[in-house]
Amino acid sequence: MTDLKNMYQLVKKMFPIHRSITGDGNRETLKYIKKIIPIKIKEVPTGTKAFDWKIPLEWKITKAYIKDSKGNTIIDIKNNNLHILSYSRPFKGKIKFKELNKHLYYLKDFPNWIPYRTSYYKDTWGFCLTYNQYKNLNRNETYDVCVDANLFKGSLTYGELIIKGKSKKELLFSTYICHPSMCNDNLSGPVVATYLAKYILKNMNNFYTYRFVFIPESIGSIAYLKKNLKQMKKNTIGGYVLVCLGDAGDFTYLQTRKEKQITDKVSIFALKETKVNYKLRKFHTCGSDERQYNFPGVDLNIGSLMRTKYFEYDEYHTSADNLKFISQNNLEKSYKMYLNCINIFENNHKYYNKTLCEPRLGIHGIWNQIGASKSKEDINMIFRKILYYCDGKNDIIDICKILDKPFEKINNAIKLMLKKKIILKNLKIISKGTQ
Ligand code: ZN
Repeated sequence: MTDLKNMYQLVKKMFPIHRSITGDGNRETLKYIKKIIPIKIKEVPTGTKAFDWKIPLEWKITKAYIKDSKGNTIIDIKNNNLHILSYSRPFKGKIKFKELNKHLYYLKDFPNWIPYRTSYYKDTWGFCLTYNQYKNLNRNETYDVCVDANLFKGSLTYGELIIKGKSKKELLFSTYICHPSMCNDNLSGPVVATYLAKYILKNMNNFYTYRFVFIPESIGSIAYLKKNLKQMKKNTIGGYVLVCLGDAGDFTYLQTRKEKQITDKVSIFALKETKVNYKLRKFHTCGSDERQYNFPGVDLNIGSLMRTKYFEYDEYHTSADNLKFISQNNLEKSYKMYLNCINIFENNHKYYNKTLCEPRLGIHGIWNQIGASKSKEDINMIFRKILYYCDGKNDIIDICKILDKPFEKINNAIKLMLKKKIILKNLKIISKGTQ
């Protein structure tokens, strides 16, 4: 587990990279991830159609600055890559403040922060700067503006790792790799996803198949679904979009569109059981790739377990969402909550009795095995009580709720009864839509 300490280090390494929805920044980011888990890096060519969308031209930015007439640098992406409106079209020229002003973005309420803005589909260029920088601009000055950008036929890059399980049924773990230097939204997502995949690969004899995808947000999930929806629809039982996992805020769970799906059930149960404070959000407050995964007809029923949700913290989409805004400790807490959910998913099956009427637990060695005298009755009774609900329809979460017992306790008792062949697993009904 000590290896987890590297999560924050990985964020730190990837922080300076200039990412967007396409480009070398994404490839470089994926290479860092590939050093830890064996993802396949895939390219979707410019112009490829995906439902109502098309993969855009690839974007490359080499230089971007604003200088005054004396040649003093006012803004330069060398200082912060948020300074350039992402996907800015090339521009070079000397322009009056009045004209430049149409291309500037700043936040009056947070005068020291640079906002993050994008223009993927609008043919324009722009700079983002702090309000303090903006205020210092001279209204009578002519500025020398350089946006050395290149848009060309290239491709969109994403990473994929499928960890096969005993079952073909899949859980999706989707995160995005398209934001420039910001941490909670969004480097915390890919980093937690990477370490979860590493854990599953190294330590688990997993029942479910795990599909990890590292894509640019929106256009990436749309392109990914275009390619994989048929298979995913057949096999996916649920999963998550991983985002905003490094800040100090309480957990937030964004429910699936249909609600009461297995991911909702597992996540809310895990949050309740760990007794953490958490907020529940309705699907219509969504904002990331769950928008595509839950779209009518797609219906993969994907939730999102976060710390403070995007839109709900001031630092969101600004330069203040930086390395100081997140911590190793909080990344670990989020990682552990996801691991907790994975553990519940893996074990949360349905069971049925082999006999009609109560089995004689004594002859199966269960009744006698329980030695603790003080709470003997309770421990003995728990086996019987569980059996009353092993009807092939209740999963372990249901039984935990009915008996008001922790997951581990019921799961351990069930494992023992399985070993003794008192009950059988009902794999024909893998929990899908449940309450
Ligand atoms: Zn974002």
